[in-house]
Amino acid sequence: MTTLTATAPLDLLADFPAIPAGWAYLDTAATSQKPAQVIDAITRSYDTAYATVHRGVYQRSADMTLAFEAARCRVAQFIGGQENEIVFTRGATEGINLVAQCWAQTNLKAGDRILLSQLEHHSNIVPWQMAAERVGAQIDVVPLTHDHRIDLDAMAAMLTERHKLVAFAHVSNVLGSVLDARRAADLAHAVGARILIDGCQAVPRLAVDVADLDCDFYVFSGHKLYGPTGIGVLWARYDLLDAMPPYQGGGSMIDRVTFDRTTYAPPPGRFEAGTPHITGVLGLHAAIDYVTSIGLDRIHAHETALVTRTRDALAGLNSVRLFGPGDSAGIVSFEVQGVHPHDVATILDEGDVAIRAGHHCAQPLMDSLGVAATARASFGVYNGAADIDALVKGIERVTRIFG
Ligand code: PMP
Repeated sequence: MTTLTATAPLDLLADFPAIPAGWAYLDTAATSQKPAQVIDAITRSYDTAYATVHRGVYQRSADMTLAFEAARCRVAQFIGGQENEIVFTRGATEGINLVAQCWAQTNLKAGDRILLSQLEHHSNIVPWQMAAERVGAQIDVVPLTHDHRIDLDAMAAMLTERHKLVAFAHVSNVLGSVLDARRAADLAHAVGARILIDGCQAVPRLAVDVADLDCDFYVFSGHKLYGPTGIGVLWARYDLLDAMPPYQGGGSMIDRVTFDRTTYAPPPGRFEAGTPHITGVLGLHAAIDYVTSIGLDRIHAHETALVTRTRDALAGLNSVRLFGPGDSAGIVSFEVQGVHPHDVATILDEGDVAIRAGHHCAQPLMDSLGVAATARASFGVYNGAADIDALVKGIERVTRIFG
């Protein structure tokens, strides 16, 4: 088994007040627990600094605007983009919907094709189906390799000049498989297609640089990155954003409004109608400071060691079938043969081990794996060897109960 202390001496449980001693929280892929640093930043933003942004002429509002825009800079720096390329959204889902509406509205037409993969989350499928239906475009699906990665050789063989958009997950929320996003972007660009990368599960686990990936759109959610819910990021190349019509109409996204005609603000304001989630943005800033103070390389090493230890332990149990590649990032999906994943999760919960069971919003992936659901353990900076030992003990109990 991997020695955690040798590869990744993370000992951060004390930062997380919502994780009581003895509780193995293994559902970080759904949402991460929050460190005190983030909780404090959110509390401070309400109790000493609160005011609206962008409009107030009084000092408090001006200060809050500075803090809000400083967060935008921090996000840009975190993923290697420019400040004016960062659009705050409610989460990854809204970011994808925004692109599927605003970019697709002017760039997709009947007969065009969109390329997705078999392992996408519903939020990276349904918005594209809706966009395709609106204009009469078609969706093609890239299959997975035998070890459950998006098959980029198959992608290369499938791409045509009619493909206008590729949308792939950077890290699968079910399998943990990591996409070679740069190769996918190069392949997409070779036929003149744009590529959107769903970075929901990647930004908490890997150092991401959108310039290195050479993608066109990148989305993620704050709540999976140790930040608050209700805040997320769409990064897009400025020229693409600048050519896109607005998403929603309202305050803040305008240049000039008359009853005859409205002109719009430049990006990113054009895509941020209404009063934004001010405290969420400040919380996201604190979350980015938190993960960067640890270092994404260390987080990745830590989670890789946890995945290896888990897969090694589960592979030793006859009744367990593992999904996903051995080098998956922070996520292990499995089934205990003959036992419904919900029963597995319920029994584990009795032993204070919290995992996720279900289709994980990836029903087409479940279909291709030939299962209705999987059990999934996913890791964060607060997990350690004791959590895995509790998981394995719980699964041994499951197999005893179900014979
Ligand atoms: N994509 C992936 C890969 C995800 O894991 C998730 C969340 N499970 C989403 C998209 C959607 O994120 P949210 O619900 O925060 O918008």
